[in-house]
Amino acid sequence: MTHLYAVIGNPIAQSKSPLIHAAFAREMRHDISYERILAPLGKFRETVDEFRRRGARGINVTVPFKFEAFAYATDLTDRAKACGAVNTLRFGGEDGEEIFGDNTDGIGLTRDITENLGVPIAGARVLMLGAGGAAYGVAGALLDHQPSIFAIANRTHEKAAQLAAKYSGTNARAITLDNLPSQPFDIIINATSASLSDELPLVSPSNFATHSLAYDMMYGKGETAFLKLARHAGARTADGVGMLAEQAAEAFYVWRGVRVKTASVIAMLTQE
Ligand code: NDP
Repeated sequence: MTHLYAVIGNPIAQSKSPLIHAAFAREMRHDISYERILAPLGKFRETVDEFRRRGARGINVTVPFKFEAFAYATDLTDRAKACGAVNTLRFGGEDGEEIFGDNTDGIGLTRDITENLGVPIAGARVLMLGAGGAAYGVAGALLDHQPSIFAIANRTHEKAAQLAAKYSGTNARAITLDNLPSQPFDIIINATSASLSDELPLVSPSNFATHSLAYDMMYGKGETAFLKLARHAGARTADGVGMLAEQAAEAFYVWRGVRVKTASVIAMLTQE
């Protein structure tokens, strides 16, 4: 019997998730069907209810519904509770009444950085730009690796302060952009959506050293202004394709209980 999954968002046409999950299912010889669902704003709950009535097993959630998905779940993993947002729902129980919510973005990012790119986060000086949904999704996972510094800078400073406050007692701290230290960081993550319009979030060339990793969570936009600045400053650069593949692999595990390898999917997405 074919098991039904989907990704839901608004907009959704650009999503690579159907391609990725089809590749995983082929590799694992699992019989799944995976759709794209465009939910009208304000209609997340009704749209997912309808999908569940069709016997769906799970759904990936993307912008702007990750906070609504958090509220929709009846059961949450610790990592979903910590970030307050859900990107993966699994439906279970006799009649699909149990709604299990998880967030795989954080593990997706940290696996890409530490395993695929081979850069340790433990002990590293990390600067994260942005304090939106994506930043909330990854902050806890980054802190689990115990960086020596975890600085969060955001255009709207209060949001960075709120995010850092969620992790009080750790070395997370919010810094204002005009106080951005001129020192280099080992890992600089662009978790803003500035790259969508090819804008540069406020960051200085002096924040990069030749050993630094500059990571733009954006993907599919070629070399963004952020990555260009980093490359000119001598840093190593990476876009968010690896994170995209790793968060999908973790979602596949949540749904199907098997671990898939991501190398061929990353290669496929990079060539696109
Ligand atoms: P949100 O809309 O929730 O947050 C946007 C963030 O970007 C805010 O911090 C906002 O600052 C900041 N921002 C927007 N424009 C600018 C600008 N011109 N200059 C500086 N800061 C700016 O978006 P998300 O957090 O959900 O997504 C952020 C990025 O992460 C997107 O590019 C998305 O594609 C990517 N992403 C990638 C994933 C992957 O798997 N690779 C997974 C999830 C997200 P302010 O608070 O001041 O408005």
